[in-house]
Amino acid sequence: SQVLVCGGTGCTSSGSNGILEALQAEVKKHDIENEIELVKTGCFGLCELGPIVIVYPEGSFYSQVKVDDVAEIVEEHLVKGRIVERLLYSETVSEDGIKSLNDTGFYKKQMRVALRNCGVIDPGNIDEYLALDGYKALEKVLLHMSREEVINTMKESGLRGRGGGGFPTGLKWEFAAKQTNPVKYMICNADEGDPGAFMDRSILEGDPHSLLEAMAIGGYAVGANQGYIYVRAEYPIAVDRLEVAIKQAREYGLIGKNIFESGFDFDVEVRLGAGAFVCGEETALINSIEGKRGMPNPKPPFPAVSGLWEKPSIINNVETYANIPVIFNNGAEWFKNIGSENNAGTKVFALGGNIVNTGLVEIPMGTTLREVIFEIGGGIPNGKKFKAVQTGGPSGGALTEANLDTPIDYDNLIKLGSMMGSGGMIVMDEDTCMVDVAKFFLEFTVEESCGKCTPCRVGTKRLLEILEKITEGKGTMEDLDKLEKLGKQIKATSLCGLGQTAPNPILSTLKNFRHEYEAHIIDKS
Ligand code: SF4
Repeated sequence: SQVLVCGGTGCTSSGSNGILEALQAEVKKHDIENEIELVKTGCFGLCELGPIVIVYPEGSFYSQVKVDDVAEIVEEHLVKGRIVERLLYSETVSEDGIKSLNDTGFYKKQMRVALRNCGVIDPGNIDEYLALDGYKALEKVLLHMSREEVINTMKESGLRGRGGGGFPTGLKWEFAAKQTNPVKYMICNADEGDPGAFMDRSILEGDPHSLLEAMAIGGYAVGANQGYIYVRAEYPIAVDRLEVAIKQAREYGLIGKNIFESGFDFDVEVRLGAGAFVCGEETALINSIEGKRGMPNPKPPFPAVSGLWEKPSIINNVETYANIPVIFNNGAEWFKNIGSENNAGTKVFALGGNIVNTGLVEIPMGTTLREVIFEIGGGIPNGKKFKAVQTGGPSGGALTEANLDTPIDYDNLIKLGSMMGSGGMIVMDEDTCMVDVAKFFLEFTVEESCGKCTPCRVGTKRLLEILEKITEGKGTMEDLDKLEKLGKQIKATSLCGLGQTAPNPILSTLKNFRHEYEAHIIDKS
């Protein structure tokens, strides 16, 4: 049998390391060490139900396992072959017997492309990645494809940047490839900072090699021999797994000198960020890697032309990279056929807030918000009604009941006044005060503003003051107009994306929930 224990941050914080240690001890006690393979994996997605243990070949999904349950799992299931039904995830139990995980509401409509190896392999063991076609795409690219063919494949696939901007990745690579500078860089933006977002962290923790492989493919395509992964220091498990993966890939000759004897050299280093939200902005990230204060620069020049140390540099985020090896293994056409028009592939979301199944979800683009919230997410807990969902984190907006049947993609979310962002999805029930929600996100952006430009540094503070006045019952109707006017000015005049999107939560709640602002003013509470 094979026993998988989730080692993602969610399950680790609910005690999965203790479960693994108890499993090791019990397996030893029963003298079945040679028959049982214990594997610490990345995230399975259903974080709400952690710690999670899955036993194969039966595929028994044990949820909310406690250290005290381990002896029973080992004795009953692993020794006697009897599934411990009381610990099974209830959705997998039906009158006809035990259902496959893929038939449960949470997993049925999901499609795991970027997360394909998370919760499947031991991220600390390169052999497991290799066994699932790991580094095959890199081999194919280096030995059988020209740089132009690689870029054309990327363009044909239709992959767009998953960090939030949605810029076509192949086109970005083409800009850098055209630069004649002999020194170029590949950068991975792993500075995920939206409140409630943990998509990138889970990929880093669960499948770090996919990132290294994709960066090397990109390096070959654009002509870069060095990569940097900029990851926040608050992600210690991710940083640790990246370091292990880089070491193993070097030992196997999969990064470093003369990869696959192709004559191509590519190496990767990790750079730690100190957790400033603005360092997710690419020019601020570059400044931070260079050892300067993490503040954005005006664009142009764009990093693909003049980036790290003024050399052409490609910056893609973790999820974007995680899609790339599979595009080369399965073909651009395969990828393009997933999702909706002009929005190829899948998107990973971190589902949180007032939702039954908090966790990590990957869906084909074009899936509706209703499917994500009510089928995959299991709906709103405690019999409450759905009120709103915030996509795009502090840069996004709150969508309402009227938007639930909208297919999720970059273009549709922008049309509705929100945005895809990197994939945070926070669900709110009928008890949520939308003015408080706007205030929460604004407090975050005020705190994270780097202060370089006045509209953002001063303007967001003024917005917050007006919001505080309203929530203290001292607001007037004119304040609502001021919020709107100032919000629009900040959007139009701020230097970087942080300021340009900071007013979005206010503007979208003013549009969709104006009566709640008015109620604070009229009720004076
Ligand atoms: Fe800094 Fe805000 Fe200006 Fe961006 S918009 S440069 S975060 S002050």
